[in-house]
Amino acid sequence: MRLDPQHSPGVQKYVDASKRLIAEREATMARMKTMKFDTIAVHGLYSMEEALVQNQGAIIEPLYLATSQAYRDADELEAALAYLVPTWCYTRIANPTTYYLEWMLALLEGYRTGSDTSCLVTASGMSAIMSAVDPFLVKQKDGPERMNFVSSIQVYGGTFQHFAVRKIKERGVECRWVLHPEDMEEWKSKIDGETRFVYMEAPSNPQQSFCDVKALTDLAHAWEVPVIFDATCATPALMRPIAHGVDIVVHSLTKSITSGGLAIGGALISRKPIVTKIKNDDPRFKESFAEYVKFWPYRDSGPSPSPFNALFALNDLRTLRSKMDLVSRNCQKVAEFLKTHPRVYRVDYLGLPSYHLHPIAKKYMKLVDSGDGAGNEVNRYGHLMSFRVDGPPANARKVFDSFKIIYRATDLGRIKSVATIPAISTHSQQGEEARRMADIPPQLIRLCVGGEDPDDIIADIGQALNKI
Ligand SMILES: *Cc1c(COP(=O)(O)O)cnc(C)c1O
Repeated sequence: MRLDPQHSPGVQKYVDASKRLIAEREATMARMKTMKFDTIAVHGLYSMEEALVQNQGAIIEPLYLATSQAYRDADELEAALAYLVPTWCYTRIANPTTYYLEWMLALLEGYRTGSDTSCLVTASGMSAIMSAVDPFLVKQKDGPERMNFVSSIQVYGGTFQHFAVRKIKERGVECRWVLHPEDMEEWKSKIDGETRFVYMEAPSNPQQSFCDVKALTDLAHAWEVPVIFDATCATPALMRPIAHGVDIVVHSLTKSITSGGLAIGGALISRKPIVTKIKNDDPRFKESFAEYVKFWPYRDSGPSPSPFNALFALNDLRTLRSKMDLVSRNCQKVAEFLKTHPRVYRVDYLGLPSYHLHPIAKKYMKLVDSGDGAGNEVNRYGHLMSFRVDGPPANARKVFDSFKIIYRATDLGRIKSVATIPAISTHSQQGEEARRMADIPPQLIRLCVGGEDPDDIIADIGQALNKI
């Protein structure tokens, strides 16, 4: 909030009146921070007082479809447009329904991390990624001319395209790919004084890559470089990277967070403050990055979500913890079945003790607020896995074509099981060479196990594998 002593008494009246509202919100936030993950996911910042006083007792957050907000008079309009009072103004800038989702995500991602957080919700996961990286790739007045960013190559296909085409090819920004993100030496050899940010995705889609998150943030921070982390496949129920020093977390809300599959969305959650050397006139750039993006680049570029989609995401989020527990346990069972199947030559799932990245994932992937009876949280590894079918690529296609209840779609994170062949779908654009570097052969089937009984999914895969 910019508190300008110059404004008129009329404007000041609205600024004073808004103080009570701000204090109430802060009290609600402080109260929610004392509660457990599930309680925050169910209620967020939508309090009983707010329901009874402002919303006719509606127990579910109202859907505000109006594109813009009206004001009482010129003074209130002036106060609002100068951002002197809490306001939503226009749905490209903010929206009351989206606001509830933003605060719910900020609280969940910040849960027991020891850090305060702010959140910006966007129209898609890709727009959240763009909104997170672009502010770091700007010209600096007295800084070095050259810039680079360092990214794991094992990222979502759309992210790879965004970096390879929109950043490298079209804008000439140097991206240094890390081929083996679990290898800290490789990161170390690529980060330098001209690095603007470090980008990691874990668990990655579809390769199930992982890294020592704490070691990576320590390394980046030693160069005063922020870490941007795509934690879509983990969700805050299984990992909160901010607890390990990550500066900015991005999510595709489209996936496990909105597992019902009715909405596209993205989110950017930042730690307060982030580590960065980039100079910006607005102190929020460092102090509350998500808010900075919301106030400026987001407003000027327009990747705002539909409030409808925000409400779908919010409604699915309420049961996130128990859902991620269920689908992770189902996926574990399916992965163990595939591991012993004679027609499958490799299974990649972080939950399998034989998987080379299992020990490092075990350190980080834990079901929030769970207990094993001995005071430890239990490990859960999410519902995304992949397996490779023996023989030529045609065999994988035949197995894929034979599924009866597992849907064939370039989708994941659903309450329904979904499979795809990444080499001919999500990762087809990037070409064979890049697929080889990222280890995505045409025999690989990506599977995201849903909430069905896992025995029925195992039976479906079993009959499909018997076709070859
Ligand atoms: C799907 C996905 C994205 C992109 O999200 P959209 O909502 O489809 O734009 C980014 N990262 C990961 C890991 C994803 O799975």
